[in-house]
Amino acid sequence: MSQLALSIPDDLVVDLAIEHLCHAAGCSRRVQPRFLMCYEHWWLVSTNTRAAVDRLCRPGQWRDKRPSADYMVVAHRAISEVALFEHREDDARSHEVASQRWLERTSPTPGMGRRR
Ligand SMILES: [Zn+2]
Repeated sequence: MSQLALSIPDDLVVDLAIEHLCHAAGCSRRVQPRFLMCYEHWWLVSTNTRAAVDRLCRPGQWRDKRPSADYMVVAHRAISEVALFEHREDDARSHEVASQRWLERTSPTPGMGRRR
């Protein structure tokens, strides 16, 4: 099971010290800090994106709150996918934009690269 994933960048998180909530738009379920989303939402994310989130999640990033830009790209993509699934088009769009914004900060490594 691949919920090794997740989480934590300032622009995603509310207040980690108090509680950590599922990052899916509109969801206020409490989840462990290392998870990006609650179980229910996590399984709405595409297989490829879930795998990327797990792969790019660095152990401990939920403590130091310094996830990589690559991680942020796929985390926002995952949130966008769930929003789309739930017909939250505005949320889907804003997270897709955020994903693109982070993509511009990533280094052009093979596999994660900038698609032009
Ligand atoms: Zn949720």
